[in-house]
Amino acid sequence: MATLAITGGRLLRPDGTISRADVLIDQDEGTILELDDDLDGTGETTIDASNALVTPGFVNGHSHVAMTLLRGHADDKPLDTWLQEDIWPAEDELTPEDIRVGAELGLLEMIKSGTTAFADMYFEVPEIAAAVDTAGLRARLGHGVVTVAADEAAAREDAQTSIDVARELDGAADGRISTAFMPHSLTTVGEEYLDEFVPKAREIGVPIHYHANETTDEVAPIVEERGVRPLAYAAEKGMLEPEDFVAHGVHVDESEIELLAEAGTGVIHCPGSNMKLASGMAPVQRLLDAGVTVGLGTDGAASNNDLSLLDEARDAAMVGKLETGDASAVPAEAVAEFLTHGTADAIGLDTGRLEPGAAADIAVIDLDAPHLTPPHDFVSHLAYAVAAADVKHTICDGQVLMRDREVQTLDERAVCDRASERAAALVDRAAE
Ligand SMILES: [Zn+2]
Repeated sequence: MATLAITGGRLLRPDGTISRADVLIDQDEGTILELDDDLDGTGETTIDASNALVTPGFVNGHSHVAMTLLRGHADDKPLDTWLQEDIWPAEDELTPEDIRVGAELGLLEMIKSGTTAFADMYFEVPEIAAAVDTAGLRARLGHGVVTVAADEAAAREDAQTSIDVARELDGAADGRISTAFMPHSLTTVGEEYLDEFVPKAREIGVPIHYHANETTDEVAPIVEERGVRPLAYAAEKGMLEPEDFVAHGVHVDESEIELLAEAGTGVIHCPGSNMKLASGMAPVQRLLDAGVTVGLGTDGAASNNDLSLLDEARDAAMVGKLETGDASAVPAEAVAEFLTHGTADAIGLDTGRLEPGAAADIAVIDLDAPHLTPPHDFVSHLAYAVAAADVKHTICDGQVLMRDREVQTLDERAVCDRASERAAALVDRAAE
């Protein structure tokens, strides 16, 4: 049995407290064997975590990882204009190889900011799965379905692809990859396709993930046409089960908050993207008060513009206070949960807690920095002050993905160079 010990650190426990403990990992099984005060010398290899915070690897509940290629391509426009003028024309030109390279860039960035698990909606998903396999992270992947502009044959093929991808890739990368059926949203996928394909997703036993109530444009048409709120419509369509999770949930009313709480459906809060696209502010504290499982997501890099969950955590706390006018809303403790097991629970991945038997998915954060001094409260630091560059080591499934800021599974220079070349060619093709 190969073993790894992480020694000398302060550990973020599942109950949100932080105390001194070493961690012993079974690298063959990818699980935590033991947490104790003195495990120094017990592992075949050791990571020194003196003056470091040892936390579960962060969990990103909603992303479009290959969109890193469009980072900085078009900014400062509202969602609809931005999608139609800039994003969709470029995405039309994406090749499978572009998506592979874009995914590698995104995964590189995730590893460098302590993220070890994520949920992702995109297309050419086998390319993304191959990148996840190489990079060593854990993921729930799905093919995003859009039927609005498609003829019937193309729309059905798109939805069937999402089911096929979910069936074929579930359990890939030695079990690190799980899947979901992913209709893009309640307004971009026709009702007949939901009626036909939601039962197919249930048959193969995968969750359903979609964008919901991101902007008022995603609410008004449903209310006008059907006389019900979007999430009541989702419930009618069988898309509001405990294993399902929606992205955004910005414009939800009290009845929808109640529906989410009763159903046990998770909401992935994406404050960076919501602010940048001026979509609005999700009522996160009210969701928490109602007992809704809330997770955190970056959304795509084109609307963020980075994939660090630490930035997202800070945004969540800040915007949560602004939305309520109450400085005690969305406190640091809630944010620490969003970063870890809160989001893992929302997207149904078994990670986010440091305890014996749990997945050895870990971020080691260097506390030896002016902006993390003095050491009053490390949960506060995690929510408000830690930055991506403070993450020193990243471990997933017991494997060291980054050691001393050096990513072990991807060639950082080569990935960045390839991504820059591919992105330039992509934007040129889209402009033709
Ligand atoms: Zn999204």
